[in-house]
Amino acid sequence: MRSDIRVCSDWQTTHERPVYTLGDRCPVCDAPAENSAPAPFDPTDRYGEYRRRARSDGPE
Ligand SMILES: [Zn+2]
Repeated sequence: MRSDIRVCSDWQTTHERPVYTLGDRCPVCDAPAENSAPAPFDPTDRYGEYRRRARSDGPE
């Protein structure tokens, strides 16, 4: 299920915590809002995930 909730793209410098919105802009500081869906893990570490998975080849 996709979420349409967006988060202020500049919240880390402008706000103390993420500011969520359903619109295209932050309602507080008017910065562009971006998709709030967090990356499941650091994309630069995607192969690390493969390595860890390959290492544990037992059933769960
Ligand atoms: Zn903002």
